Amino acid sequence: MSTIASIDVRLFHIPLAEVLVDAKHGDHHIFELITATVHLEDGSSGTGYTYTGGKGGHAIAAMISHDLTPFLLGQSATDVEGLYDAMQWHVHYVARGGIASFAISAVDIALWDLRGKRSGQALWQMAGGTAQSCKAYCGGIDLGFPLPKLLDSIQSYLDRGFNGVKIKIGQPSLAEDIARIKAVRDLIGPDITFMVDANYSMTVEEAITAAKAFAAYDITWFEEPIIPDNYQGYAEISAATGMPLAMGENLHTIHEFE
Ligand SMILES: [Mg+2]
Repeated sequence: MSTIASIDVRLFHIPLAEVLVDAKHGDHHIFELITATVHLEDGSSGTGYTYTGGKGGHAIAAMISHDLTPFLLGQSATDVEGLYDAMQWHVHYVARGGIASFAISAVDIALWDLRGKRSGQALWQMAGGTAQSCKAYCGGIDLGFPLPKLLDSIQSYLDRGFNGVKIKIGQPSLAEDIARIKAVRDLIGPDITFMVDANYSMTVEEAITAAKAFAAYDITWFEEPIIPDNYQGYAEISAATGMPLAMGENLHTIHEFE
């Protein structure tokens, strides 16, 4: 009944209204959306997805089609955790993160979608969640926005009811970043939560200097100041400045998170 009969993979190119820039990934002209729909022999189906900033989508779709699909056909879809582990090992030699993590994620989400439909539960309930609300903030890929446009963008978040905002940093000079941070804090006032995201564009030394300068503007967290692989560097920045740091967006496996 729950045997996997087929998997449909689709790759979409999502046009953007304008070119978007962050500190380390350059220009984003499109986003890519990759969907995986897992069909079972009983006629039910679940859909998962993953996305990119415009590069790698073909490789992700190809891994799902050529490597994961032949492996999964004929298997039971009920042991979602077991299949996740099995997919990791199936492509392990070329995996441990990267493209494989994106490909496996799309299929894994599809399997969770199937489980949720069978159980009548949302993902947060299946994960054991009980809260009915959570904090939310709004941010954009806004490093290339001139200051007036950046402030208009921030104002639009506030107008939509958000009480937390985040901007990209990583301008050519720290003084430019600080000027933008000051302008945003002046706009939002003292009561709005404010975060900054450097997309790992700084060295440890630069990040320590920056974090000390940002402290005057009540920054709730400084996101990805340095490359995600340098765990010791994160500890150094934290110890030197006391600034809360956020990272994990570019960690792809449970082992990295541990
Ligand atoms: Mg980020």
